[in-house]
Amino acid sequence: MDKNLRPETAWGLPLSSKVYYMNSLTVKDLDINTPYPILSRMEFIEKIHKRQEEIKDSLEIHDSGLSVWTKTPTGKTLSKGCQTCKTGTWQCLYVGKKCNIDCIYCAQGTMREKMAEPERPDLINDSYHIEEVKNMFNDPGAIWAGSNIRGIGYSGGEPFIYLDKVLNLAEFVSRYHDHIYQWIYTNGLLVTEDKLKSLYDVGVREIRFHIGATNFNKKVLNNLEMAKGIMDYVNVESPSTPELKEFLIDKKGIHRLEAVGVYQINLGELSTVAVNEMTKFLLGHKRALEYFQKNQVYVCDSIIGTSVAGRNLSQFYISPTISREITYDIMGYVVENNIDILINDCSQDAKHIQRLQKNTNEQNADVILKNLSHDKRSIQKLLKDISERKLNMIRKHKKPNTQDYYMKILIQDITNKDDKGYHLNLGELLSSIGDQLDIKF
Ligand code: SF4
Repeated sequence: MDKNLRPETAWGLPLSSKVYYMNSLTVKDLDINTPYPILSRMEFIEKIHKRQEEIKDSLEIHDSGLSVWTKTPTGKTLSKGCQTCKTGTWQCLYVGKKCNIDCIYCAQGTMREKMAEPERPDLINDSYHIEEVKNMFNDPGAIWAGSNIRGIGYSGGEPFIYLDKVLNLAEFVSRYHDHIYQWIYTNGLLVTEDKLKSLYDVGVREIRFHIGATNFNKKVLNNLEMAKGIMDYVNVESPSTPELKEFLIDKKGIHRLEAVGVYQINLGELSTVAVNEMTKFLLGHKRALEYFQKNQVYVCDSIIGTSVAGRNLSQFYISPTISREITYDIMGYVVENNIDILINDCSQDAKHIQRLQKNTNEQNADVILKNLSHDKRSIQKLLKDISERKLNMIRKHKKPNTQDYYMKILIQDITNKDDKGYHLNLGELLSSIGDQLDIKF
């Protein structure tokens, strides 16, 4: 792989998908139609700040309140994988799109859309051959050289469909970059004892079960229990849905997870992919939107700035407000019942920090690579400027600022109201954001 390839081309969202969906419909074909007013992040986030305030003594709050997780009775620390995510030193390797389930909110579209993707046996993140990935990891001159990475998560699709790819890469990472912490995601159906042992043997130390995908299937819960005897950490990562809350609290599922020894639960905020990336799996995103808009939704803005290669990284998502409310319902229950599982609020705000931090790391690496012949002090000055810019951006994201007010007014301006409710066209949202905030998508 060309070491000068910039990170978003090397590791960003699948490039080759553009080829297959170029002639498809566009985001202009997607509307939000909901009985409730559509909110901006600023309008919604105040509610979450209140929820945090109610249990603040039992929370770890970092990054100006954007990263939040619960304290536990035995003083657990956040999973090493999540720590690398928050410091922007994480790479998510997408090993393939196919899945044996068809979640209504899947970021990779409907099962049919996923099946329509051509099978490419040794590609990672849809674009790079495994050998190219390995070469980049071993190249000290690449921005995302192995030495700049602290964690790798294997994702999909369902990674257990592509187990050979995972084993191949994990073995390489363990052999040449053993400082990197590795974990794998799964919906849990294809997990077996032998597969887990193979993964453990090549250095994968943590498994995260998306238990909501199968509606808390018994086989998946049994597999989770079995994994506890093999992996160092068995965790749950599932979006915050009403069904998850019902399973964990009403049906007391969280007590079973505690008894099994689950270390951490990541409660993902339900969300679309970035509005400008929806065209890739239009039917899936349309389906997800229809599911979200039964409840109130808000537009989540993540203003990041430009990448090293000059690409605008700012993104906008649609999320149902109920999801993050459920996260705090579950956190409140866990705190009240003294349950020894760490609950992580894996929100869009937390992902904003991850993207921001990752962009900062790329800028730092770029400064160092470009200034190898310069003196240490001038390099340090450049790095300090980058760090100050990042801290300012974190502060701005926490407190409503001019940009947030723009978003509120912009959403109100382009929302049509009639006797059936509120209607907003996502193509119009995108072009209005582009005009008002001078962002090119
Ligand atoms: S299990 Fe994961 S990859 Fe499979 S459909 Fe559900 S969200 Fe998508």
